[in-house]
Amino acid sequence: MSRHVIVLIIASNRNRHPLIKGRSLKRQSILCRPVVYIMESATRCDIHIGNGRYVRVQEWKGDLRVDIREWDKKIPTKKGVSLPLGRWKHFVESVETIDDALNTKYLEFYNNHLGGNVYCTVEGVCVDIRQYWKPADTVIPTRKGICLRADEYKRLKDSIPQIGQTLPELDAFVPCYLQSDHQNQLGMLSCAECNPNDSQNL
Ligand SMILES: [Zn+2]
Repeated sequence: MSRHVIVLIIASNRNRHPLIKGRSLKRQSILCRPVVYIMESATRCDIHIGNGRYVRVQEWKGDLRVDIREWDKKIPTKKGVSLPLGRWKHFVESVETIDDALNTKYLEFYNNHLGGNVYCTVEGVCVDIRQYWKPADTVIPTRKGICLRADEYKRLKDSIPQIGQTLPELDAFVPCYLQSDHQNQLGMLSCAECNPNDSQNL
């Protein structure tokens, strides 16, 4: 397991900070240095799927995510998507239909809602996993996402068992759409994961 250190720097405000107020200027100058908090994110697995693109299982403050991303000299780019457990599980369960869409020339445009505003689409030989947003009546793609070429998708798909071994939590994870509050339509419509753009208007 490798570890990445995330450093958050919070500049303190000498006039408002209750511990600093009223102290000597010299003491204040010491206290007013930026406060540095060090938090660690753990990477459970790190698999290269080709062309500088990696799939990583990351844990940060108890939040587990599967990150599929292009990196540029060890720096993450915007080309990528970070999937929480529910969305990753949905993707894994969709592999068969994605393969059908890739192998069937005459299939209509494949579009699978993974949760929130994240969708998986198949365009030609590419599998696109992307964040969308809804400015009007329909959702449109943003630049946050990744279009996987055929060989990258194949490596990602082949890595699913290996990723699963590092994600024992996935077996016990129950997607929101299988939970009791989704048994009636209103429950599902008011869920931000299933109905992200209108759930707050109900
Ligand atoms: Zn839901």
